[in-house]
Amino acid sequence: MFDSLQDRLQSAFKNLRGKGRLTEADIDATAREIRLALLEADVSVSVVRDFVATVKERSAGVEVSRALNPGQQVVKIVNEELIGILGGETRRIRFAKNGPTVIMLAGLQGAGKTTLAGKLGLWLKEQGKSPMLVAADLQRPNAVTQLQVVGQQAGVTVFAPEPGNGTGDPVQVARRAMEEARRTLHDVVVVDTAGRLGIDAELMRQAADIRAAVDPDEVLFVIDAMIGQDAVQTAQAFADGVDFTGVVLTKLDGDARGGAALSVRQVTGRPIMFASTGEKLTDFDVFHPDRMASRILD
Ligand code: GDP
Repeated sequence: MFDSLQDRLQSAFKNLRGKGRLTEADIDATAREIRLALLEADVSVSVVRDFVATVKERSAGVEVSRALNPGQQVVKIVNEELIGILGGETRRIRFAKNGPTVIMLAGLQGAGKTTLAGKLGLWLKEQGKSPMLVAADLQRPNAVTQLQVVGQQAGVTVFAPEPGNGTGDPVQVARRAMEEARRTLHDVVVVDTAGRLGIDAELMRQAADIRAAVDPDEVLFVIDAMIGQDAVQTAQAFADGVDFTGVVLTKLDGDARGGAALSVRQVTGRPIMFASTGEKLTDFDVFHPDRMASRILD
């Protein structure tokens, strides 16, 4: 991930190396290369436009400094602006003051929601919480079993519908899960929901109904970083249809060009909160914009 972007940015900065002063032509040439590097990485066009304009404007104002030469200052500006488009500060889960904190997962099928439920379960347990995972994805055959398997691996409770007891209705399942969590004193409830291969009205309605039933503290939109620009369009559709409070990027271990990671925050206005980097339950962490920016630039 980001390998090609990293190389392209390095070569954009190369022209500035050792310069005592930056001319307008230097800045223009570098800005052009940064623009191409970002477009090639599949970053959303509007994000690229704003990013390059800001970098150009700030670079033109670079003063001669003793600590950093002009080239280094431009790298620093790009670093700061990358952190900015990735969300600035790390955004952490807002836990409810009273009653269980409800975290609902939404996204397309295959994005990695069920896996994420297990990862979150383990992570929450390590934070001293007592999580319960809820199988409200009743669309995909095996989704319930898959959640039970990851729940077992993580060592956390899974609430799954029993056959014949509202089995087909995810809203009912979610409601009963909430009652059960209160009764059994679980303090975080993670609700896995159904995804489709594409966005459809039925999926949105179901997610919105579950949302209304469980009144979540956080709705996490799970997005596969491998699908680039398309992922961003999907994110926008979910933002309109269900609304969400944060994004989880999955499959950051793949060789995606990084466009989704760099666009999703600006396009949806929602922070990236977690990142998944593999199939194992431990391949998961809170998302840190500054670390991601360093990874792109180092
Ligand atoms: P869901 O349909 O959204 O519930 O998606 P799943 O959780 O079933 O994940 C779909 C596939 O992606 C599974 O084979 C997972 O093992 C895999 N997967 C999930 N997260 C990651 C990740 O961060 N990296 C990689 N390489 N694979 C992942």
